[in-house]
Amino acid sequence: MQSKLTIRDINQDKAPLGEYQLSGWVRTHRQSKSVSFIELNDGSAVRGLQLVIDPNLDSYKCVAATISTGAAIKVRGQLVASPAKGQKYEFQVSELELVGVADPETYPLQKKGHTLEFLRDILHLRPRSNTFGAVFRVRSVASMAVHKFFQDRGFYYVHTPIITASDCEGAGAMFRVTTFDLAKVPLKDGKVDFNEDFFKAETSLTVSGQLEGEIFATGLGKIYTFGPTFRAENSNTVRHLSEFWMIEPEMAFYELEDNMKLAEDFIRYLIRYVLEHCEEELKFFQEREWTAKDHIQVLERVMNADFASLDYSEAIRILEKSGKKFEFPVKWGMDLQSEHERFLTDEYVKGPVIVVNYPKEIKAFYMKVNPDGKTVRAMDTLVPRLGEIIGGSQREERHDVLLQRIRELKLPEENYWWYLELRKFGTVPHSGFGLGFERFLMYVTGMQNIRDVIPFPRFPGYAKF
Ligand code: ATP
Ligand code: MN
Repeated sequence: MQSKLTIRDINQDKAPLGEYQLSGWVRTHRQSKSVSFIELNDGSAVRGLQLVIDPNLDSYKCVAATISTGAAIKVRGQLVASPAKGQKYEFQVSELELVGVADPETYPLQKKGHTLEFLRDILHLRPRSNTFGAVFRVRSVASMAVHKFFQDRGFYYVHTPIITASDCEGAGAMFRVTTFDLAKVPLKDGKVDFNEDFFKAETSLTVSGQLEGEIFATGLGKIYTFGPTFRAENSNTVRHLSEFWMIEPEMAFYELEDNMKLAEDFIRYLIRYVLEHCEEELKFFQEREWTAKDHIQVLERVMNADFASLDYSEAIRILEKSGKKFEFPVKWGMDLQSEHERFLTDEYVKGPVIVVNYPKEIKAFYMKVNPDGKTVRAMDTLVPRLGEIIGGSQREERHDVLLQRIRELKLPEENYWWYLELRKFGTVPHSGFGLGFERFLMYVTGMQNIRDVIPFPRFPGYAKF
């Protein structure tokens, strides 16, 4: 007899009919004189398995009254073809063990649908709901897809530090890391004396692994990072978290065009992988009231599309000529807002598009300056219904130009000595990009709030569990 079988295996026809032992949680329990039914879910699939029980079965009879929604049970019995409509299999129970009760008076997840807001308050129980079970299975599968994509293409996985000693990118406000007793912080000449702190330096949680990623790309060739990232910005939006996961590939000898191609392949691969491995979950999302009716079709279109490319300056001309009234007026030099991105991808290109060569003033110091002196080799990948999903660039590999940019922007030059040295010794053209993992998960699941695609969301005013 096989054990450790999951309901997903059964649903996917991977388990021949026969005797098994199964365990999971009760979703519904219906009793009658002649036959009882339990819908069992073990967390492996949206769709549970119907257990059919003879009410006179000894091991059932004695606990039947306390088997309610949420209770944990173990059963032994026969997997058989189901005569009932709408289900292929059912399970005829020969022995049942009640493992853990769930008092119906107090168990919050009764069978009726709950709002996502309600579930957000019970993070310890929400993985047991259909919606969050599905979201977090997709999250796991998509993580695998990220690794598989890069590993299959000769990239090495690098663990960049979580605690860092400098805000190198200036990407956002940072969370301080300290062991100081906040009631008596050591001062020297009226300033905090970080020499007394744990690292003898001012340290924070990382906002991006990119700069350290460049160290490894110029050593191992092609690398990627995939880890937690922290931003102490007060952005209380449905798209921002204080702790999120980012994927950042970085490649030596890649120019902007190579980088664009990789970003396109990556997005298409991730979508395809999730569609193939999470078919049931995606169908389930498609049926939710918060999801667009053509959600899966949009994903399929992106997965099969050739990504267009547009020069930033051309994008500006297109926006100016569009005749559209935008909230943020269009002008060369401005950063593209979400409304502009949406117009370009949804209405103009009608598909994914990569916008390149942005004005240097609105982009980071490390991006390679174009011969025009005004624009940099940046690339933002825009997808329908969302706008930006990936941001990246070719990096400035010329020591003098990079140093000049650091000085122009009045960045603390002494912090970048090692970054500059990468350009002093065996410098090479190199490129990379960043994908916010939760942004991708929102896109693929159709979930509307980023707090619903990370197991334990952290945002301003909230860090529970
Ligand atoms: P946004 O304009 O949306 O705030 P950003 O320009 O600050 O993004 P980057 O600094 O380029 O973003 O970070 C790279 C990627 O990380 C973004 O494209 C996005 O997918 C993701 N990201 C950025 N900030 C957050 C956040 N606070 N929560 C979740 N994901 C984020
Ligand atoms: Mn931001």
